[in-house]
Amino acid sequence: MSPRTPHGAHRGTRGARGAKPGLPRKEDPAKERRRGMSVLRTLRKEFPSAQTALRHENAFQLLVATILSAQCTDERVNMVTGDLFRKYPAPADLALVPREELEKEIRSTGFYRMKAKNVIACCSMLVGRFGGIVPRNMDDLVNLPGVGRKTANVVLGQAFGIASGVVVDTHVHRLARLLGFTKEDTPEKIEADLMEIFPEKDWIELGTLLILHGRRTCKARKPDCPACPVNHLCPSSAV
Ligand code: SF4
Repeated sequence: MSPRTPHGAHRGTRGARGAKPGLPRKEDPAKERRRGMSVLRTLRKEFPSAQTALRHENAFQLLVATILSAQCTDERVNMVTGDLFRKYPAPADLALVPREELEKEIRSTGFYRMKAKNVIACCSMLVGRFGGIVPRNMDDLVNLPGVGRKTANVVLGQAFGIASGVVVDTHVHRLARLLGFTKEDTPEKIEADLMEIFPEKDWIELGTLLILHGRRTCKARKPDCPACPVNHLCPSSAV
């Protein structure tokens, strides 16, 4: 069976998408896949050992770090999680921590009240429903409090090496549009378009590479097109 897109449809069933009346024709899919692979190969050379910058030793730590990383830099999260995981090394520890105490620990990551609530609820569910083990599938992960497809894709890809989709954070959202891989504006639809263009074996790496490229060169405030290694492949290039 072919992998499912974020919408639940099987890949390969969206081929007629560009034929909807009133909508512009989609680019030639084969040509887009070739261009996509050229972008991927180029970024691979730029970032030969691409991986998440969130420090972690296991899936549980990565799950919590990813929840904390919403609207926050990975560097800031790393400053907090070192102490946090020393004090609370397992889901059972974080499930029982008083909320005010956790709020103090994670305050500098921003949105700390909501994050503390979600981390405690998430760890409680991990303990109560999954025996303290992080599940290895999308359906169970997205049912955990504070966990959406982006966080689930990070955990599945980086902790377990399971490609269930493409991580779409703010960088991937922006770059996928600038690079012309999608015209969509919601993470789920953008992810579906990326999953259609890129082969499943590259989904994990693709998200990581686009995030790194967005941080270093294609920055939100001012993309550095002259220095960009994929400017010859990018429809939004300013050079
Ligand atoms: S050419 Fe410019 S807009 Fe396109 S990916 Fe590179 S930096 Fe971003």
